[in-house]
Amino acid sequence: MTALKAITISIGDELLSGKTLDSNNAFISKQFDLIGIPVMKKMIIGDVAADIVDALDWGFSQADIITLTGGLGPTHDDITKTVLCDYFEVDLIMYPELLENLKERFQKRGFKFSKSNETQAEYPANAELLHNPIGTAQGMHFKHRGKHLFVMAGVPKEMQIVMTDQIIPRLAEMVQISISKIDIHSIGVPESTLYELTKPVFDEYAGLKVAYLPKQGMVTIQVSTDLSDNDKSILDEIFSRIKALKPKNIYGRDEESLQTIVGDHLLRLKATVATAESCTGGLVASLITDISGSSSYFNTGFVTYANETKMAVLGVLEQTLIDCGAVSEETVSEMIAGTLNVSQADYAIAISGVAGPTGGTEEKPVGTVYIGVASKDNKMIKRFQFGTNRIMNKEMSAFTALNMLRLLLEGENLGTH
Ligand code: AMP
Ligand code: MG
Repeated sequence: MTALKAITISIGDELLSGKTLDSNNAFISKQFDLIGIPVMKKMIIGDVAADIVDALDWGFSQADIITLTGGLGPTHDDITKTVLCDYFEVDLIMYPELLENLKERFQKRGFKFSKSNETQAEYPANAELLHNPIGTAQGMHFKHRGKHLFVMAGVPKEMQIVMTDQIIPRLAEMVQISISKIDIHSIGVPESTLYELTKPVFDEYAGLKVAYLPKQGMVTIQVSTDLSDNDKSILDEIFSRIKALKPKNIYGRDEESLQTIVGDHLLRLKATVATAESCTGGLVASLITDISGSSSYFNTGFVTYANETKMAVLGVLEQTLIDCGAVSEETVSEMIAGTLNVSQADYAIAISGVAGPTGGTEEKPVGTVYIGVASKDNKMIKRFQFGTNRIMNKEMSAFTALNMLRLLLEGENLGTH
């Protein structure tokens, strides 16, 4: 394929001290891997000019492609640009249109535009700027002795967008491959099971690169290929085949998330949803409202943490709480009924569980969560046994609830899983 080699460098004192985990290098490596450029070595250095110079010397001596992230902010510890100017013996030049954009950005937010922010419109004269649509620090591309240096902001989201929108397409062209990739998202199937299940399908196609990326109880299968443009429909075929293996668990692809899928279904049905949450503390409502336009379908979210509130707001019966407990199918069933009744929404989600690390019993250990979804005509309540970590239990519960709502909205056969 290609003989190009890459080195990645992260800059930041907080990365060295471990206060911040260096996630940028990992993201960049995965992106390089997708287009068949191996990352040979990685380096983390502090906000120290001499160390940045050493790292650049090292990078240019060993690799064809070097990435550098961090130190592009407007504060005194952000020295990357001045070091680059010294390194390449060039001056900073001001981009007037960027300065205008910056001033507008500050004005819109009601902030005063201070002098130190002007540096965000200045870049080394030999840099090709790489557009950053979500932040003020533009990416940069330098050509030096036939090699390529890419510099990006440290903020992970900004780095990621410059990497995927600007750098990867340039490199893909350079190594003359037409990359096609697809992310296939799943929930509720262990990574190993998913691997065993899907491998025979992937094995039928030559030249696929497949990576299983688990996160928060969900696994994304990243598939890439250097097929020609004409063959890109193969990725659609692969997605259909993989989805058919576990339709209840494989919920979407690429930029889709459970939140966007559920939102699209509700929009299509012109329906609304309301939530009643106990152990997730409002996380489901928060996830649903992460999506712009959710006001069209999100009705209300109750966080009924205390038993008294479950009774007062949702009409859960005291006897049910005494007989069955707050974490029970019966309570969740009454939470659903109360939510539909009070909100008049078309769909409801209710969750009650033991998030942990304390509060578990033999019968209902930490991680026991009852999740219910319902419309006026259909209801599904299931018991789940998640793990012992509080935050992970909240996340797993919330995403599982959204997946159950997705299935209800897609008209799946209820009750089986
Ligand atoms: P900087 O561009 O150095 O001003 O960094 C901006 C923000 O991004 C800071 O909160 C950094 O801690 C964070 N950051 C910088 N580099 C990394 C990295 N390699 N991984 C994760 N976060 C980072
Ligand atoms: Mg920094």
